[in-house]
Amino acid sequence: MNKPRALVTGGAGFLGSHLCDALLAEGYSVVAVDNLLTGRLSNLDHLRNNSQFEFRKIDINQPFDCGHVDYVFHFACPASPVDYTVHGVETLQVGSLGTFHALDVARKYGAKYLVSSTSECYGDPLEHPQKESYWGNVNPIGPRSVYDEAKRFTEAATMAYHRYYKVDTRIVRIFNTYGPRMQLNDGRVIPNFMKQALRGEDLTVYGDGSQTRSFCYVSDEIEGFLRLAKSSEHLPVNIGNPNEFTILECAKRVIEVTGSKSKIEYKALPQDDPKQRRPDITKARTLLDWEPKIDLEAGLKMSLEYFRLATAELAGAGKA
Ligand code: UDP
Repeated sequence: MNKPRALVTGGAGFLGSHLCDALLAEGYSVVAVDNLLTGRLSNLDHLRNNSQFEFRKIDINQPFDCGHVDYVFHFACPASPVDYTVHGVETLQVGSLGTFHALDVARKYGAKYLVSSTSECYGDPLEHPQKESYWGNVNPIGPRSVYDEAKRFTEAATMAYHRYYKVDTRIVRIFNTYGPRMQLNDGRVIPNFMKQALRGEDLTVYGDGSQTRSFCYVSDEIEGFLRLAKSSEHLPVNIGNPNEFTILECAKRVIEVTGSKSKIEYKALPQDDPKQRRPDITKARTLLDWEPKIDLEAGLKMSLEYFRLATAELAGAGKA
């Protein structure tokens, strides 16, 4: 019997590449597409000789077709504040045009569909922790709006294809996720702190560090995706770790885990930086029987080797 075939857009990204690994392990053959704007082929190096895996360099902002697929996992999108600020227009395009094209593939082949959305849909939330029923507090014209509104549009387009065209869709709202394969220079807090700590530089805490985030290790996050993919839930589901830390606490954990002598340096807080973020995962618990297992300290330890190598590589390449 032929294996089911999955399409992963953004397959060369941090989460996309881990998802490809998980789908191959689940018995899918996988075609990953990516325009490599922020994704990296090195994330897929280990799959080069896997006969069940194929990579195609495709910009999904143009209509595309890789042949019959049974499942579309739409993960293409710059995802770090630095990346989506640099590539603001491309972020809006992939959230809109790219999403239509991914949905069109699912519609054409009668494939199931799961899209990566984000806790950024909640903006700077006035409800805490955030439940899926919360509509959010997003500045529609601020610097983060290119990402937040792109993803809110992605959700709207996905629900429209579900309602009007009966596409079998799912939406995962992802909360801060970290682990191996994160780009060291993508500006997100864990890679920044790990790089700084491993180099013995001061850790740059933005603002007074009292803003909070809740960090999920990548393997927990991917397990949540797989469970949602197998479910028949069409409305958004939060997948994230509800253990909440201030950014200052997070910096201290990184210093402990790396054994670094780095100190803290305070820098200006970026505009519209959410003050608090923590998922309410009651829905994922009850619907998917999913629960994150790896706490921040354990996840940082599991990521340490990767960040050490990446920091050494960057130094070897003579880059900052
Ligand atoms: N942050 C920080 N120092 C850094 C990078 C980020 O203090 O070097 C803060 C940032 O202001 C935010 C939090 O860490 O409050 C998480 O930032 P990140 O870019 O990882 O993702 P976000 O959750 O804001 O999308």
